[in-house]
Amino acid sequence: VRIFTGYRIQHNLSRGPAKGGIRYHPDIDIDEVRALAMWMTWKCALIGIPYGGAKGGVAVDPRLLSRNELERVTRRYASEIMPIIGPEKDIPAPDVGTDAQTMAWMMDEYGKLHGHTPACVTGKPISLEGSYGREAATGRGLVYLYREAAPKLNLGPTDTRVVVQGFGNVGSWAARIMQDLGCTVVGVADVNGAVHSEEGIDAEALHRHIGEGGALEEFEGVDEVSTEEFFGIECEVFIPAALGGMIHRGNADELRCRMLIEGANSPTTPSADDVLEDNGIMVIPDVMANAGGVIVSYFEWVQNLQHFRWEEREVNDRLGTIMRRAFRSVYKRAEDDDVSLRLAAYELGIERVAEAARARGYISA
Ligand code: NAD
Repeated sequence: VRIFTGYRIQHNLSRGPAKGGIRYHPDIDIDEVRALAMWMTWKCALIGIPYGGAKGGVAVDPRLLSRNELERVTRRYASEIMPIIGPEKDIPAPDVGTDAQTMAWMMDEYGKLHGHTPACVTGKPISLEGSYGREAATGRGLVYLYREAAPKLNLGPTDTRVVVQGFGNVGSWAARIMQDLGCTVVGVADVNGAVHSEEGIDAEALHRHIGEGGALEEFEGVDEVSTEEFFGIECEVFIPAALGGMIHRGNADELRCRMLIEGANSPTTPSADDVLEDNGIMVIPDVMANAGGVIVSYFEWVQNLQHFRWEEREVNDRLGTIMRRAFRSVYKRAEDDDVSLRLAAYELGIERVAEAARARGYISA
């Protein structure tokens, strides 16, 4: 018998039911879950979807459990948080260490008490009313923002070289879609190493190579580089899509890009932010940049409430509309107030939460 500790934090419900992922990681603690829940509040408000922020987690290393054990942990966790979740209360989704299968077990557990209720979680498999386009959504969202931001720097896809740190869900989709657009991927890193090619790395072929169990540095036509060299690769766009805190005071000055689009959550430390600003690098902040996942989660919930499935093209088009609107409002605010895009994004998100709280009478006018 082993006892695991789990959490579910609802940070703010002023704008609607809570929304946020569930993370399985051995080091997770309540403060981290609290911080992640708060980010979800600002993110949902900024992009204008009708949710508050939440996050959950279980302190467990999923790689050390069998599938059967993982199912039991998930079902128990789902039944413990059952009183506070539901389609109109709090809608969990996958995060680091969890996936569509985890959500399928959670939905099934919820259904034992409430009957079939697909809208109680998002990020489900397609066979259980998951949404088309969900898997690629975060990477695709980054690319929509690149398309809005690039003209501000007089950049076009054919003169954009891209470096991607992290080649998992977010990084590999972003790289593949940037490539489809006409950009050239010149650097990729993952947990095992980093590679560079001035002529370009075929992101689609690399994705297949890694999917077949190949190592990044064994991919044909690339040069293996050190972490230090990786950060110094000349490019127009750098996409951190690995873990938090990877761009810090110690390496921020090495970056040779014009635009940084934050796929990961908090990849840039505050002191690195100052360095990037001094170096004139446009930083598109995580709170807006990686919102594609929660936007398509929202679409999944809407589809589930109607038991009606949208075509993938409709999902992608609507995702683009929301991302473009977010970018334009953040860019305008940053210009009007002469602040960074990050500060402008927080200003807008927090103001919208305050506006809703005031309208409900939670805080005085
Ligand atoms: P993932 O596990 O699919 O991929 C992570 C990638 O990062 C892997 O390629 C891994 O090898 C690489 N990596 C790990 N440590 C590294 C290191 N030290 N140096 C270089 N690469 C390293 O995860 P993901 O779903 O792609 O998420 C990536 C980031 O994006 C996370 O911070 C996550 O919180 C954030 N995010 C993801 C989504 C989503 O929809 N998946 C949405 C919003 C934010």
